[in-house]
Amino acid sequence: MVPGRLIHPARLQDAVTSAFADHGRMMAFFVDCFGPYPYASYDVVVTDDALEIPLESATLSTFGSNHATRDWENQRLIAHELAHQWFGNCLTAAQWRDIWLHEGFACYAEWLWSQEVGLDSTQEQAARHHQGLAAQSQDLLLCDPGPKNMFDDRVYKRGALTLHALRGAIGDEAFFAVLRGFVADHRHRVVSTSDLEKAICRVLGPTGGEQVRRTVLDPWLRSPALPPIPAI
Ligand SMILES: [Zn+2]
Repeated sequence: MVPGRLIHPARLQDAVTSAFADHGRMMAFFVDCFGPYPYASYDVVVTDDALEIPLESATLSTFGSNHATRDWENQRLIAHELAHQWFGNCLTAAQWRDIWLHEGFACYAEWLWSQEVGLDSTQEQAARHHQGLAAQSQDLLLCDPGPKNMFDDRVYKRGALTLHALRGAIGDEAFFAVLRGFVADHRHRVVSTSDLEKAICRVLGPTGGEQVRRTVLDPWLRSPALPPIPAI
């Protein structure tokens, strides 16, 4: 159990209690997926004002009053910001070009949580967002989106699909071992995509890791064309 406070205006008591009712379960689920929570506590602030987007920082996420609902659109944001404690805060991209290591991972955490709570399966989420990406222009290089596209929604969705493709290629056991190993080996340090590739090699061995880099990561990360929908 990770200690944490839920801080909010008194008028939002019922809404906040309801919106964050699954938070303990969410934390336990992400610990299973990603390894131990990297900090001593996790606090959530809900502001009196509505906010356009929530914002996370190490050990603390801030949501607007408008985010305190049980709608999936807000539940996914609650999951997204919590996942950033592992991917974004504990592990921080050394260079902005690797922003997918924050946003792709946090987005994939949303899809994992969706299945965990009995909503769309991770595969259904992946299929829907693959369809969404297919309808957009294919001119984004995920491994280096450039300053203008750094927070383009395609970085989030294609990043999550990259992880889904990796999972499909290596299986659940190896995939989650890679995620946990990646976090454990780089705890509270900066990381790059090549660190993730090394984490894959540590689980699969150098030959298997190199094959995955060539057949899975390169098409998703280093070429703008959208690869086919991955399946797990
Ligand atoms: Zn994010």
